[in-house]
This record gives sequence, C-alpha cells and structure tokens, in this order.
Amino acid sequence: MAEMGTLHDAFLDELRDAYDAEKQLTKALPKMAKAARSPELRSAFETHLEETRGQIGRLEEVFAALGEKVRGKHCAGMAGIVEEGKSAMEEDFDEPTMDAALIASAQRVEHYEMAAYGTLVAWARAVGHTEAADLLEETLEEEKATDAKLTQLAESGINQASADAARPSEEGDEDEEEEDEAGPATRKTGGASKSRGGGAKTSTSAKKGSAKKGSSGGRKR
Ligand code: FE
Ligand code: FE
Repeated sequence: MAEMGTLHDAFLDELRDAYDAEKQLTKALPKMAKAARSPELRSAFETHLEETRGQIGRLEEVFAALGEKVRGKHCAGMAGIVEEGKSAMEEDFDEPTMDAALIASAQRVEHYEMAAYGTLVAWARAVGHTEAADLLEETLEEEKATDAKLTQLAESGINQASADAARPSEEGDEDEEEEDEAGPATRKTGGASKSRGGGAKTSTSAKKGSAKKGSSGGRKR
C-alpha cells in the first residue's frame, strides 16, 4: 500500500503549483500592460512583471532551501483566471472600461496568489521551514501591495472615467430591453417591469435632474 502524503508533500505540491502560476503570469502580464490605456496602470503591470520574475527566483531559492528540485505543476486555477482575462481583453470596451476590466482581472490574479502564498507561509511555518517561510512571506507582501495599488488606481479615477464614458449612451431604452430579456423568471418584478415601459419615457427628464451626483441615484425609475 502506498504511503499517505504528509503536510510536507502537500506543501511541495502547492509550491510547484505557485511556480507554474508565476510562470503563466510572466506571459500574461506583458499582454495586460499592452492593453492598458492608462499609463499608470501600464506601468503598474510592468512593475509587477519585474516583481513576478523576482518571485520565480525566490521560489527557486525555496526549492533549494528544502533540497528539492525546481519543478512546476500545471496550475489550472491560474490558467482559468488568465483565460477569463483574455476574454475581457477581446471585448470591444471603451478605453477606461478596458482599464477597469483589466484591473478586475488583475485583482483576481492577486487574490488567488495571496491565498496561495498565505497558505504556503502558514504551512512552511507549521513544518518548521523558517527560511522558506520568510522568502514566501516577502512574495505574499508584494502580492498584497500590488492588489492595494490596483484598488488605488481603480478608485482614483479609472472606475469613474469608465462610468462617465458610459453616461451619454446609457439611456433608458437600453435598460428596458435588458430587463425584458431577463424575463419574469429571474425578476420578481417581471410583471411590473412591463407596465413601467410607458413610465420610463417620462422619467428620462426626471433622471436628468437627479443624475448629476451618483449614477445609481439617477437610474432609479
Ligand atoms: Fe506573483
Ligand atoms: Fe502577483
């Protein structure tokens, strides 16, 4: 009978997974940088690409510290997140919306990495691999800082620019169609939305008055 795996085995497995995930990112980040319209966002991606290369080197140090061969193991989770990001980049978004969508993808990446490195640090400490834990913690901090930077970029203008760009074409009719498509099955107000069809026209003028501040307020009918 095969021996049962230990936490050390699980740790090595996660380490190989992280190594592969970082490698995938060195291919994805240049594409994201290229797709970014905001110079700050582009430079954030470029900076993180450099950091990511450093993180790969750090993982190699961790393997060495454990006396293990450097090895990656396909990370399906990261492949999925990267794939979703690719679909977003293929959308025909206006410029600020593309940036907002890139940030959304990148933050999924960072959160996935934070979860992975958080676990790796905890497990390394639990089994007494102090050197490995310290190295992995440096990477964890870089991922957290990148996530915070992305939040700051989104909230310091990109989200708002994207919302502003949407305003002129965002008249009631479009919303009405969407609601009709959604159908009564997914909306408890299915019946009510039909009767609102006529009312929506008159509310367009009311909307203009209240739409100045806060987009959600302006969209009430
Ligand atoms: Fe990373
Ligand atoms: Fe990262």
